[in-house]
Amino acid sequence: MHRVTLIPGDGIGPEISAAVQEIFAAAAAPVLWDVHFAGQGGIDRCGDPLPEATMASIRANKVALKGPLTTQVGEGYRSINVTLRQTLDLYCNLRPVKSLPGVRSRYEGIDLVIFRENTEDLYAGVEHRVGRYAAESVKIITTEASVRIAQAAFAYAARHGRKRVTAVHKANIMKLTDGLFLASAREVAKLNPDIRYDEVIVDNLCMQLVMRPEEYDVLLAPNLYGDIVSDLCAGLVGGLGVVPGANLGEGGAVFEAVHGTAPDIAGRNAANPAALLLSAAMMLDYLGEGPTAARIRAALEAVLAEGRAVTPDLGGSATTLQMTDEIIRKL
Ligand code: ATP
Ligand code: MG
Repeated sequence: MHRVTLIPGDGIGPEISAAVQEIFAAAAAPVLWDVHFAGQGGIDRCGDPLPEATMASIRANKVALKGPLTTQVGEGYRSINVTLRQTLDLYCNLRPVKSLPGVRSRYEGIDLVIFRENTEDLYAGVEHRVGRYAAESVKIITTEASVRIAQAAFAYAARHGRKRVTAVHKANIMKLTDGLFLASAREVAKLNPDIRYDEVIVDNLCMQLVMRPEEYDVLLAPNLYGDIVSDLCAGLVGGLGVVPGANLGEGGAVFEAVHGTAPDIAGRNAANPAALLLSAAMMLDYLGEGPTAARIRAALEAVLAEGRAVTPDLGGSATTLQMTDEIIRKL
Protein backbone atom coordinates (compact mmCIF):
# COMPACT_ATOMS: atom_id res chain seq x y z
CA MET A 1 0.00 0.00 0.00
CA HIS A 2 1.18 3.51 -0.80
CA ARG A 3 0.37 6.11 1.79
CA VAL A 4 -0.68 9.30 0.00
CA THR A 5 -1.78 12.65 1.35
CA LEU A 6 -5.21 13.68 0.06
CA ILE A 7 -6.23 17.32 0.22
CA PRO A 8 -9.89 17.37 -0.91
CA GLY A 9 -9.72 21.10 -1.67
CA ASP A 10 -12.27 23.90 -1.94
CA GLY A 11 -15.16 24.62 -4.31
CA ILE A 12 -15.73 21.50 -6.42
CA GLY A 13 -12.72 19.87 -4.71
CA PRO A 14 -14.61 17.71 -2.17
CA GLU A 15 -16.99 16.40 -4.86
CA ILE A 16 -14.30 15.37 -7.34
CA SER A 17 -12.00 14.05 -4.59
CA ALA A 18 -14.79 11.82 -3.32
CA ALA A 19 -15.27 10.57 -6.89
CA VAL A 20 -11.58 9.68 -7.16
CA GLN A 21 -11.65 7.89 -3.81
CA GLU A 22 -14.65 5.80 -4.85
CA ILE A 23 -13.10 4.90 -8.20
CA PHE A 24 -9.78 4.00 -6.55
CA ALA A 25 -11.62 1.76 -4.09
CA ALA A 26 -13.51 0.06 -6.94
CA ALA A 27 -10.24 -0.45 -8.83
CA ALA A 28 -8.57 -1.83 -5.69
CA ALA A 29 -5.79 0.70 -6.20
CA PRO A 30 -3.16 0.10 -3.51
CA VAL A 31 -3.42 3.57 -2.00
CA LEU A 32 -4.07 4.53 1.60
CA TRP A 33 -5.45 8.08 1.82
CA ASP A 34 -4.10 10.32 4.56
CA VAL A 35 -6.67 13.13 4.44
CA HIS A 36 -5.55 16.67 5.36
CA PHE A 37 -6.85 20.13 4.69
CA ALA A 38 -5.59 23.38 3.15
CA GLY A 39 -6.96 26.57 1.64
CA GLN A 40 -10.41 27.55 2.87
CA GLY A 41 -10.80 24.00 4.20
CA GLY A 42 -7.66 24.53 6.28
CA ILE A 43 -8.99 27.81 7.66
CA ASP A 44 -12.36 26.26 8.50
CA ARG A 45 -10.94 23.21 10.25
CA CYS A 46 -7.59 24.35 11.64
CA GLY A 47 -7.65 28.16 11.43
CA ASP A 48 -4.75 28.08 8.97
CA PRO A 49 -4.77 27.96 5.13
CA LEU A 50 -1.72 25.68 5.25
CA PRO A 51 -1.79 23.76 8.57
CA GLU A 52 1.49 22.32 9.85
CA ALA A 53 -0.11 18.85 9.98
CA THR A 54 -0.83 19.03 6.24
CA MET A 55 2.77 19.96 5.41
CA ALA A 56 4.07 17.26 7.77
CA SER A 57 1.88 14.67 6.06
CA ILE A 58 3.10 15.59 2.56
CA ARG A 59 6.71 15.64 3.77
CA ALA A 60 6.29 12.18 5.30
CA ASN A 61 4.33 10.58 2.44
CA LYS A 62 6.22 12.46 -0.31
CA VAL A 63 3.20 12.06 -2.60
CA ALA A 64 -0.09 13.96 -2.51
CA LEU A 65 -3.27 14.32 -4.52
CA LYS A 66 -4.71 17.78 -4.17
CA GLY A 67 -8.07 19.27 -5.08
CA PRO A 68 -8.15 22.95 -6.07
CA LEU A 69 -7.70 25.55 -3.32
CA THR A 70 -9.37 28.94 -3.05
CA THR A 71 -7.12 31.84 -3.97
CA GLN A 72 -8.45 35.30 -3.29
CA VAL A 73 -8.23 37.78 -6.14
CA GLY A 74 -6.30 40.96 -5.41
CA GLU A 75 -6.22 40.51 -1.61
CA GLY A 76 -5.94 38.04 1.26
CA TYR A 77 -3.37 35.32 1.99
CA ARG A 78 -0.92 34.21 -0.65
CA SER A 79 -1.98 31.41 -2.98
CA ILE A 80 -1.58 28.12 -1.13
CA ASN A 81 -1.12 26.33 -4.44
CA VAL A 82 1.92 28.50 -5.12
CA THR A 83 3.18 28.31 -1.51
CA LEU A 84 3.05 24.50 -1.61
CA ARG A 85 4.99 24.32 -4.87
CA GLN A 86 7.63 26.71 -3.60
CA THR A 87 7.96 25.28 -0.07
CA LEU A 88 8.33 21.70 -1.33
CA ASP A 89 10.45 22.87 -4.27
CA LEU A 90 8.15 21.14 -6.77
CA TYR A 91 9.89 22.88 -9.62
CA CYS A 92 8.35 20.98 -12.48
CA ASN A 93 4.71 21.39 -13.45
CA LEU A 94 3.88 18.73 -16.01
CA ARG A 95 0.61 19.00 -17.91
CA PRO A 96 -0.20 16.52 -20.65
CA VAL A 97 -2.89 17.79 -23.03
CA LYS A 98 -4.43 15.09 -25.16
CA SER A 99 -7.53 14.73 -27.31
CA LEU A 100 -9.86 12.19 -25.72
CA PRO A 101 -12.24 9.86 -27.56
CA GLY A 102 -15.78 11.18 -27.58
CA VAL A 103 -14.93 14.56 -26.09
CA ARG A 104 -16.17 17.22 -28.45
CA SER A 105 -13.70 19.93 -29.35
CA ARG A 106 -12.60 21.84 -32.41
CA TYR A 107 -9.50 19.71 -32.93
CA GLU A 108 -8.47 16.09 -33.15
CA GLY A 109 -5.21 14.31 -32.55
CA ILE A 110 -3.76 16.79 -30.10
CA ASP A 111 -1.05 15.27 -27.96
CA LEU A 112 1.17 17.85 -26.38
CA VAL A 113 2.90 18.18 -23.05
CA ILE A 114 3.53 21.39 -21.18
CA PHE A 115 6.52 21.76 -18.86
CA ARG A 116 5.93 24.82 -16.74
CA GLU A 117 8.59 26.18 -14.37
CA ASN A 118 6.93 26.20 -11.00
CA THR A 119 8.95 28.21 -8.48
CA GLU A 120 9.83 31.66 -9.78
CA ASP A 121 9.05 34.21 -12.50
CA LEU A 122 6.30 36.69 -11.51
CA TYR A 123 5.03 34.03 -9.09
CA ALA A 124 7.97 34.75 -6.79
CA GLY A 125 5.54 37.05 -4.98
CA VAL A 126 7.89 40.03 -4.77
CA GLU A 127 5.31 42.77 -5.15
CA HIS A 128 4.85 46.16 -3.59
CA ARG A 129 3.07 49.43 -3.92
CA VAL A 130 5.10 52.41 -5.05
CA GLY A 131 3.23 55.29 -3.49
CA ARG A 132 -0.48 55.58 -4.03
CA TYR A 133 -0.72 55.35 -7.78
CA ALA A 134 1.72 52.66 -8.78
CA ALA A 135 2.62 49.08 -7.97
CA GLU A 136 5.54 46.91 -8.92
CA SER A 137 6.05 43.16 -9.29
CA VAL A 138 9.50 41.65 -9.67
CA LYS A 139 10.06 38.94 -12.25
CA ILE A 140 12.77 36.55 -11.11
CA ILE A 141 14.43 34.10 -13.48
CA THR A 142 17.51 32.09 -12.47
CA THR A 143 19.81 29.82 -14.43
CA GLU A 144 19.36 27.06 -11.86
CA ALA A 145 15.57 26.93 -12.10
CA SER A 146 15.57 27.38 -15.88
CA VAL A 147 18.14 24.64 -16.46
CA ARG A 148 16.37 22.09 -14.28
CA ILE A 149 12.97 22.59 -15.90
CA ALA A 150 14.63 22.35 -19.33
CA GLN A 151 16.36 19.14 -18.23
CA ALA A 152 13.03 17.76 -17.06
CA ALA A 153 11.44 18.55 -20.44
CA PHE A 154 14.26 16.99 -22.48
CA ALA A 155 14.49 13.93 -20.21
CA TYR A 156 10.74 13.40 -20.60
CA ALA A 157 10.99 13.84 -24.39
CA ALA A 158 13.79 11.28 -24.57
CA ARG A 159 11.96 8.80 -22.34
CA HIS A 160 8.64 9.11 -24.18
CA GLY A 161 9.96 9.20 -27.72
CA ARG A 162 8.97 12.78 -28.35
CA LYS A 163 10.70 14.60 -31.17
CA ARG A 164 10.60 18.28 -30.40
CA VAL A 165 10.88 20.70 -27.49
CA THR A 166 9.69 24.28 -28.01
CA ALA A 167 10.72 26.98 -25.53
CA VAL A 168 8.12 29.69 -24.92
CA HIS A 169 9.29 33.24 -24.25
CA LYS A 170 9.01 36.97 -24.76
CA ALA A 171 12.72 37.67 -24.88
CA ASN A 172 12.27 40.33 -27.52
CA ILE A 173 10.82 42.50 -24.73
CA MET A 174 12.19 40.93 -21.53
CA LYS A 175 15.71 40.52 -22.82
CA LEU A 176 17.38 39.76 -19.50
CA THR A 177 14.85 37.50 -17.75
CA ASP A 178 13.40 35.59 -20.69
CA GLY A 179 16.80 35.86 -22.36
CA LEU A 180 18.30 33.91 -19.45
CA PHE A 181 15.52 31.33 -19.65
CA LEU A 182 16.28 30.80 -23.35
CA ALA A 183 20.04 30.68 -22.84
CA SER A 184 19.52 27.97 -20.21
CA ALA A 185 17.21 25.98 -22.49
CA ARG A 186 19.75 26.20 -25.34
CA GLU A 187 22.51 24.80 -23.12
CA VAL A 188 20.34 21.81 -22.25
CA ALA A 189 19.26 21.42 -25.90
CA LYS A 190 22.92 21.13 -26.95
CA LEU A 191 23.28 18.09 -24.70
CA ASN A 192 20.24 16.48 -26.36
CA PRO A 193 21.05 16.59 -30.08
CA ASP A 194 18.50 13.87 -30.94
CA ILE A 195 15.60 16.10 -29.97
CA ARG A 196 14.70 19.03 -32.15
CA TYR A 197 14.73 22.32 -30.24
CA ASP A 198 13.08 25.57 -31.24
CA GLU A 199 11.71 28.73 -29.68
CA VAL A 200 8.48 30.65 -30.05
CA ILE A 201 7.33 34.02 -28.75
CA VAL A 202 4.36 33.47 -26.47
CA ASP A 203 1.85 35.68 -28.29
CA ASN A 204 2.69 34.03 -31.60
CA LEU A 205 2.40 30.63 -29.90
CA CYS A 206 -1.14 31.45 -28.80
CA MET A 207 -2.11 32.17 -32.40
CA GLN A 208 -0.29 29.05 -33.66
CA LEU A 209 -1.97 26.86 -31.04
CA VAL A 210 -5.39 27.98 -32.21
CA MET A 211 -4.48 27.53 -35.90
CA ARG A 212 -2.36 24.35 -35.86
CA PRO A 213 -2.17 22.84 -32.39
CA GLU A 214 -1.28 19.36 -33.67
CA GLU A 215 2.14 20.66 -34.74
CA TYR A 216 3.36 21.09 -31.17
CA ASP A 217 4.93 18.38 -29.07
CA VAL A 218 6.65 19.44 -25.83
CA LEU A 219 6.28 23.06 -24.68
CA LEU A 220 8.82 24.41 -22.20
CA ALA A 221 7.71 27.59 -20.46
CA PRO A 222 8.47 29.89 -17.56
CA ASN A 223 5.80 30.02 -14.87
CA LEU A 224 3.35 32.68 -16.07
CA TYR A 225 3.31 31.82 -19.79
CA GLY A 226 3.00 28.17 -18.80
CA ASP A 227 -0.06 28.96 -16.70
CA ILE A 228 -1.85 30.87 -19.43
CA VAL A 229 -0.90 28.52 -22.26
CA SER A 230 -2.13 25.57 -20.15
CA ASP A 231 -5.65 26.95 -19.97
CA LEU A 232 -5.55 27.71 -23.69
CA CYS A 233 -4.45 24.13 -24.41
CA ALA A 234 -7.18 22.77 -22.12
CA GLY A 235 -9.64 24.62 -24.33
CA LEU A 236 -8.29 22.77 -27.37
CA VAL A 237 -9.21 19.34 -26.01
CA GLY A 238 -12.57 19.90 -24.33
CA GLY A 239 -11.92 22.22 -21.43
CA LEU A 240 -10.53 22.32 -17.92
CA GLY A 241 -12.61 19.32 -16.89
CA VAL A 242 -10.28 16.88 -18.65
CA VAL A 243 -6.71 18.14 -18.18
CA PRO A 244 -4.53 16.66 -15.41
CA GLY A 245 -1.26 17.83 -13.93
CA ALA A 246 1.66 16.98 -11.70
CA ASN A 247 3.98 19.12 -9.61
CA LEU A 248 7.27 17.26 -9.38
CA GLY A 249 10.41 17.86 -7.34
CA GLU A 250 13.40 15.85 -6.15
CA GLY A 251 11.78 15.07 -2.83
CA GLY A 252 8.16 14.49 -3.77
CA ALA A 253 5.18 15.10 -5.99
CA VAL A 254 1.78 16.75 -5.72
CA PHE A 255 -0.78 15.79 -8.35
CA GLU A 256 -3.60 18.20 -9.19
CA ALA A 257 -5.92 19.12 -12.03
CA VAL A 258 -5.15 22.23 -14.07
CA HIS A 259 -8.53 23.74 -13.19
CA GLY A 260 -9.38 25.81 -10.12
CA THR A 261 -12.21 25.64 -7.60
CA ALA A 262 -14.94 26.40 -10.18
CA PRO A 263 -17.07 28.35 -7.68
CA ASP A 264 -19.81 28.76 -10.31
CA ILE A 265 -20.69 25.04 -10.15
CA ALA A 266 -19.44 24.09 -6.67
CA GLY A 267 -21.81 22.04 -4.52
CA ARG A 268 -24.12 21.27 -7.44
CA ASN A 269 -22.98 17.73 -8.21
CA ALA A 270 -22.05 18.97 -11.70
CA ALA A 271 -18.26 18.98 -11.69
CA ASN A 272 -16.38 16.75 -14.09
CA PRO A 273 -14.18 14.38 -12.05
CA ALA A 274 -12.04 13.43 -15.08
CA ALA A 275 -9.25 15.99 -14.62
CA LEU A 276 -8.57 15.00 -11.02
CA LEU A 277 -9.00 11.32 -11.87
CA LEU A 278 -6.43 11.59 -14.67
CA SER A 279 -4.11 13.42 -12.24
CA ALA A 280 -4.61 10.54 -9.82
CA ALA A 281 -3.78 8.10 -12.63
CA MET A 282 -0.54 10.01 -13.25
CA MET A 283 0.11 9.57 -9.54
CA LEU A 284 -0.34 5.81 -9.86
CA ASP A 285 2.15 5.76 -12.73
CA TYR A 286 4.58 7.71 -10.55
CA LEU A 287 4.08 5.17 -7.75
CA GLY A 288 4.90 2.31 -10.11
CA GLU A 289 1.26 1.18 -10.34
CA GLY A 290 1.03 1.54 -14.13
CA PRO A 291 -1.43 -1.33 -14.75
CA THR A 292 -3.97 0.07 -12.27
CA ALA A 293 -3.56 3.53 -13.80
CA ALA A 294 -4.18 2.05 -17.25
CA ARG A 295 -7.35 0.26 -16.09
CA ILE A 296 -8.73 3.46 -14.60
CA ARG A 297 -7.92 5.48 -17.73
CA ALA A 298 -9.56 2.83 -19.92
CA ALA A 299 -12.74 2.93 -17.82
CA LEU A 300 -12.86 6.72 -17.99
CA GLU A 301 -12.20 6.73 -21.74
CA ALA A 302 -14.97 4.21 -22.30
CA VAL A 303 -17.42 6.49 -20.48
CA LEU A 304 -16.21 9.53 -22.43
CA ALA A 305 -16.38 7.68 -25.75
CA GLU A 306 -20.00 6.64 -25.12
CA GLY A 307 -20.78 10.25 -24.19
CA ARG A 308 -23.92 9.21 -22.30
CA ALA A 309 -22.98 9.60 -18.64
CA VAL A 310 -20.88 12.74 -18.87
CA THR A 311 -21.17 16.06 -17.05
CA PRO A 312 -22.58 19.29 -18.58
CA ASP A 313 -19.13 20.76 -19.42
CA LEU A 314 -18.82 17.88 -21.94
CA GLY A 315 -22.30 18.41 -23.31
CA GLY A 316 -23.96 15.75 -21.18
CA SER A 317 -26.47 15.94 -18.37
CA ALA A 318 -25.01 13.46 -15.89
CA THR A 319 -24.12 14.47 -12.37
CA THR A 320 -20.68 13.98 -10.85
CA LEU A 321 -22.05 10.97 -8.98
CA GLN A 322 -23.65 9.43 -12.08
CA MET A 323 -20.46 9.81 -14.11
CA THR A 324 -18.50 8.31 -11.23
CA ASP A 325 -20.87 5.32 -11.02
CA GLU A 326 -20.56 4.75 -14.76
CA ILE A 327 -16.74 4.76 -14.55
CA ILE A 328 -16.99 2.22 -11.75
CA ARG A 329 -19.34 0.06 -13.83
CA LYS A 330 -16.79 0.05 -16.64
CA LEU A 331 -14.08 -0.98 -14.22
P1 ATP B 1 -9.93 29.60 -9.32
O1 ATP B 1 -9.78 30.99 -8.88
O2 ATP B 1 -9.99 28.62 -8.18
O3 ATP B 1 -8.95 29.19 -10.39
P2 ATP B 1 -11.81 30.00 -11.43
O4 ATP B 1 -13.00 30.87 -11.33
O5 ATP B 1 -10.63 30.44 -12.24
O6 ATP B 1 -11.37 29.50 -10.00
P3 ATP B 1 -11.68 27.49 -12.72
O7 ATP B 1 -11.82 26.36 -11.79
O8 ATP B 1 -10.33 27.81 -13.24
O9 ATP B 1 -12.38 28.69 -12.03
O10 ATP B 1 -12.73 27.24 -13.88
C1 ATP B 1 -12.97 28.09 -14.99
C2 ATP B 1 -14.23 27.60 -15.68
O11 ATP B 1 -14.11 26.22 -16.03
C3 ATP B 1 -15.45 27.70 -14.76
O12 ATP B 1 -16.55 28.12 -15.53
C4 ATP B 1 -15.67 26.29 -14.28
O13 ATP B 1 -17.01 25.99 -14.02
C5 ATP B 1 -15.12 25.43 -15.41
N1 ATP B 1 -14.53 24.20 -14.82
C6 ATP B 1 -13.35 24.10 -14.21
N2 ATP B 1 -13.13 22.86 -13.75
C7 ATP B 1 -14.22 22.12 -14.09
C8 ATP B 1 -14.61 20.77 -13.88
N3 ATP B 1 -13.83 19.88 -13.23
N4 ATP B 1 -15.82 20.37 -14.34
C9 ATP B 1 -16.61 21.23 -14.98
N5 ATP B 1 -16.31 22.52 -15.22
C10 ATP B 1 -15.12 22.98 -14.78
MG1 MG C 1 -8.63 29.56 -12.61
